[in-house]
Parts: sequence; C-alpha cells; structure tokens
Amino acid sequence: MRCPRCGSSNVNSQVITMSTTSSKVKGFGCIKACLGYLLFSIPGILCGLCGMGKEKSTTTSKLKVIHICQNCGNQF
Ligand SMILES: [Zn+2]
Repeated sequence: MRCPRCGSSNVNSQVITMSTTSSKVKGFGCIKACLGYLLFSIPGILCGLCGMGKEKSTTTSKLKVIHICQNCGNQF
C-alpha cells in the first residue's frame, strides 16, 4: 500500500463504521392530518393518521476502510 500523493509506504489503515440514519420528515403525518382536517374534516384526520404508519426510519451501517498516509496525512 502506497500513498498516491507522495508515494510513501508509511500508510496506516483503519476500519471505520459509517452509520447513516435516513428517515422521513417527522410530523409529516401530523401535517397531513391537519391538511386533511381542513379539507375533509374528520375523515381527513383518519387519512393523515394512516399516512403516519408508513413512516420508516432505517439505519444502515457500512464498514469502510480508510488509509491515512503517515507522511503527508493524505486520506484515501
Ligand atoms: Zn502521502
């Protein structure tokens, strides 16, 4: 393993865990319910609440290997 910038073989490898949480905007169901209420009164609220159940929050974690050059500090 050599640094692509300076060509030094003094490279440190690290495994890092990248976790990303992707979730839809919270309160979306509430907004929908409010809009539903304005438009359709009670049935609109029910529709909005139904929409809340579809919200998901998924967390994905990835392992990533990064190499840090001890000579010039380049990360690649
Ligand atoms: Zn380097």
